[in-house]
Amino acid sequence: MMNKDLEKLVYLQDLDLMIEEAEDVEKLGFSITGCDELKQAREETAEKISKPSLYRYERLRGKLKRAIVPVKNDICLGCFLRQPTSKGKQGRERSEIFTCENCGRMLYWLD
Ligand SMILES: [Zn+2]
Repeated sequence: MMNKDLEKLVYLQDLDLMIEEAEDVEKLGFSITGCDELKQAREETAEKISKPSLYRYERLRGKLKRAIVPVKNDICLGCFLRQPTSKGKQGRERSEIFTCENCGRMLYWLD
């Protein structure tokens, strides 16, 4: 069964990074339209993610800019460590959310 949190976490991270970019620009004294909309979309998305997955994500985001990264050709694109092929099958089915044992990031398989 497909893990429903996975794609929402990817979406949540996109929103978080966009909010960060907007806030960086605001720090320079420019006003950004749409920042409130981004934050609202962020809240609505976070509410749909199960608490354990969200907690895992938030904790990682405290340390890392990107908490969830793609895996391509069995390589974690966060730290470029090769992932065990046993993980790959389940990873492709997206049945659960795996973590890279090297960098600790949450993983999603692109292929
Ligand atoms: Zn990694």
